[in-house]
Amino acid sequence: MSAPDHPKKVIMNETANKMQGATTNNLRVAVVGGGPGGYAAAFLAADLGMHVTLVDPEANPGGVCLYRGCIPSKALLHVAKLIEESQQAKNWGIDFPEPKIDLQRLRTWKEGVVKKLTGGLGLLSKQRHVEYIQGRAAFENSTSLRITKTDSAEVVLSFDRIILATGSRPAIIPALKIDSPRLMDSTGGLNLEDIPGSLLVVGGGYIGLELGSVYAALGTHVTVVEMLPGLLPGADRDLVLPLHKRLEKKFEAILLNTTVASLKVEGAGIRATFDGASVKDGNRERIFDRVLVSVGRKPNSEITGLKKTQVQVSPRGFIEVNKQLQTADPAIYAIGDVVGEPMLAHKASHEGRTAVEAIAGHKVAFEPAAIPAVVFTDPEVAWCGLTETQAEKEKREIKVAKFPWGASGRAVTLDRPEGMTKLLVDPQSERVLGVGIVGAGAGELIAEGVLAVEMAALASDVAMTIHPHPTLSETVMEAAEVFFGTSTDVYRPKRG
Ligand code: FAD
Repeated sequence: MSAPDHPKKVIMNETANKMQGATTNNLRVAVVGGGPGGYAAAFLAADLGMHVTLVDPEANPGGVCLYRGCIPSKALLHVAKLIEESQQAKNWGIDFPEPKIDLQRLRTWKEGVVKKLTGGLGLLSKQRHVEYIQGRAAFENSTSLRITKTDSAEVVLSFDRIILATGSRPAIIPALKIDSPRLMDSTGGLNLEDIPGSLLVVGGGYIGLELGSVYAALGTHVTVVEMLPGLLPGADRDLVLPLHKRLEKKFEAILLNTTVASLKVEGAGIRATFDGASVKDGNRERIFDRVLVSVGRKPNSEITGLKKTQVQVSPRGFIEVNKQLQTADPAIYAIGDVVGEPMLAHKASHEGRTAVEAIAGHKVAFEPAAIPAVVFTDPEVAWCGLTETQAEKEKREIKVAKFPWGASGRAVTLDRPEGMTKLLVDPQSERVLGVGIVGAGAGELIAEGVLAVEMAALASDVAMTIHPHPTLSETVMEAAEVFFGTSTDVYRPKRG
């Protein structure tokens, strides 16, 4: 049952002991940007004895993730889940009346969640003696920053190393830029100004689908427009299908192969015109109460004075780094959304920690076998490591073992049998290369997949690991059993 030796296995306590002390004690490190990349880097640097300054415009660390991304969206999605479960309860003989939504209290609760978590980070920052400066940083040269504080005061500080963690912002389509408070990006969408009667979501990626799901649960008629032939471009189609089917019931319309050609303020709404082969003549335009544009994110690499350093920026606007997250300027490191895809909080944090270890002189490289991606819709979609789409593109031979949740006792007790768990396995070594899950709670379940891929687990390791019953986690084990044709709950007739 043992996995092949893994080159990255390290004993963390030994590593930490080696890192603490000697070379790191007197290093002065600045971290620009207080998101999950920046604060993770700043905190580890402080833990390793460096003198750390963290700069961010907000009162506390948190960045996009905590103030206007992961956290507020998940708080609202939790509410959406509750509303939908109360509606589904009709199937189980429980009738709840229509929910009354007090928008002000809902917003206060969401804001309270953000405040609690960012306040906690502020406290952790103080406890670690991180110098937190509320302001924006610009480069004077490779090792000096001019920091304009929120109260307009300016300071110039010098450092041995600078870590850029400036993150990203919503991308905009210039042709769709109109002057209207009813046109929102993800930040505006999370503000929840009202519950519009109708909402057009431009872009069928994870942010559009998550926020669309929130508004649909609150009672808005949601239309999603995606220019590609499917939702969640990049994800395996078999994982997206159950989500698409459920969203078709929740949303008023999902228009694929369609683009929004123009937006125009009209009365109290916005008139949108659509283009695309599947757009029928009668449906070429429509007025919506609000429009949410969620067509991706752009890296914040236009940092004032960056040209005074040797840092290189790619044509797509990402800061270029090596596997130690060091830029072309030896004194400057960069992490998180500003260095590239996937633009995810956990990738940013791990990069932040790797950059700090590199600065501490430790032999490290950021080369994960699996970075999980989770779409927190209902059902959730999650994957890690190799995907089938990627394997097809690379013409890589793999075996795929799928376990349908209709055969999972736990999924049936939850009345959520539409899910599926699959393993992508190397046919020769039987090593698990990737895991994909669609279903309720897939975002929690994928962590086991990440561990399997990262630890180079074999399908037999997963199959022989006793999972608790009845849980959705059993579907991971049973997918491995499917690989061997011995799943207890899926009958596969013998050939010939
Ligand atoms: P950011 O979090 O973007 O933080 C960068 C910080 O740097 C900001 O505070 C910015 O103001 C500051 N800054 C910029 N320039 C300067 C400067 N010159 N001086 C000082 N400070 C500066 N990811 C997930 O993993 N899971 C999710 O569920 C998820 N949900 C999301 C939902 C939404 C609606 C959005 C918008 C994003 C979501 N993300 C999610 C993505 C996640 O928020 C980002 O990947 C993550 O925040 C990136 O972290 P970061 O540290 O690179 O930068």
